[in-house]
Amino acid sequence: MQFNQVLENVTTYEAGKPIELVVREFGVNPKDVIKLASNENPYGTSPKVVERIQELAKNMFIYPDDSMFELKEALANKFDLTSKHVIIGSGSDQILEYCVHAKCEKDSKILMAKTTFAMYEIYGKQTGATIIKTEDDQHNLEQFSRLYKEHGADVIFLCLPNNPLGECLDKDDVYAFLETVDKETLVVVDGAYQEYAAFKDEKKRINAKDLIANFPNAIYLGTFSKAYALGGMRVGYGIAQPEIINTLYKLRAPFNITTLTLAAAIEALKDEEFVTACIAKNFEEMTRYEDYANSRGFEYIPSYTNFITIKFGDKFVSKTVAQKLLERGVIVRDLTGYGQNAIRITIGRNEQNTKVFEQLDEVLEKLK
Ligand SMILES: *Cc1c(COP(=O)(O)O)cnc(C)c1O
Repeated sequence: MQFNQVLENVTTYEAGKPIELVVREFGVNPKDVIKLASNENPYGTSPKVVERIQELAKNMFIYPDDSMFELKEALANKFDLTSKHVIIGSGSDQILEYCVHAKCEKDSKILMAKTTFAMYEIYGKQTGATIIKTEDDQHNLEQFSRLYKEHGADVIFLCLPNNPLGECLDKDDVYAFLETVDKETLVVVDGAYQEYAAFKDEKKRINAKDLIANFPNAIYLGTFSKAYALGGMRVGYGIAQPEIINTLYKLRAPFNITTLTLAAAIEALKDEEFVTACIAKNFEEMTRYEDYANSRGFEYIPSYTNFITIKFGDKFVSKTVAQKLLERGVIVRDLTGYGQNAIRITIGRNEQNTKVFEQLDEVLEKLK
C-alpha cells in the first residue's frame, strides 16, 4: 500500500521495557523487577492522589470537563500567569506534537542537539521537515548559533535538562542565545526535568513566566510524568503567550485528557512537599551512582535529572550489559540507538539502587 511518503523516514519510538515483559520472558517475579528505564519517580504516587482517584472512579461514565478549568487555574497559579497561557496535553509529548505540526511542513527546518529526546525528530519527520543537529551530543549553544545563522529554523528544541544524557544549560546562556533568534522561530523549551535541575543548581532554573515575557516566540513544556509521579496518567502542559496557545488548540481533539487524569494532576500540584522530598532523595541516591562509576573506572555525565548516563568506553558493550541486566529483572535503557556505548539508569529507591550495583557487578564480572 502507498502511504504518506514522509513516513518512510520516520522511525517508531521505542519505549522503555515494561515490567510485564520481563515477567513473561524471563520468569522474574513481578515483585523483584526493578524498572529504572523510563525516568519515573520511583517513590510512587502521592497517597493523596491515589485517594482522590478512588473517590472519582465512580464518575467514569461522564465525559471530562473539556475546558480543564480547574487544572488550568492551578497551573496558572503555579506559574503566576492566567489560564490563557496554558494548554494541557496527554503527556507533554502531545504538546510537542502540536508545536511541530503548528509550525512545520515540507521544507521546514528543525534545529536540535545531536543526542536528545527522540520524539523531536519523529514529530518533525512526520511533517516532512528537515532535521538539523549539532555536531556535539550535548547541547552546545555555539553550534546552535552557527547552524541557526547558516540554515535558519522554524522550530528550535532545547531540552533543559537533556534526556537521555542529563546535562543542562545555564539559564543566562539560553537567554543570550534566544536574544539572537528571530521571533518567527518557535523555541520549544522542554522542561520535563526542570524541577530536578532547579533543585540542584539555581543557575539552571527556567522560570516559565519570565521566559515567555522576554521571548514571546518561546513555549515552556512541563510534565506530570517525572517528578510528579503520574507517568501512568499521561498529562503534561505547555506555557506560552495566548497567540501560540490558541493556535495549538486548533490541533487538539476534544476530551484529550481523562477525568481521572485531570483530578490526579490537580491533586499532585497540591502536594509539592512530596515532590520536593522525592527530588532531594533522588540527588542523595545519585551520588551513590557517581561513586559506583568512579570506583569501577566508568565515565558518567554529571546529571541534573532523575537518571544518570554511564559510559562503558571500550570496556564493555552497553547493549549486552543492558540485556544481561534485563534477564535478571533490572530494566535500564541502552543508548546504542542514540549512538552511545552507554546505559541510562533512572535513579531508584535506596534498596533498588543497592540491587542494581550488585547485579551490575555480577554481570560485568561475567562479561570480562
Ligand atoms: C518524559 C519526557 C517528556 C514527556 O513525557 P510525557 O509523559 O509525554 O509527559 C518530554 N520530554 C522529555 C525530554 C522527556 O524525557
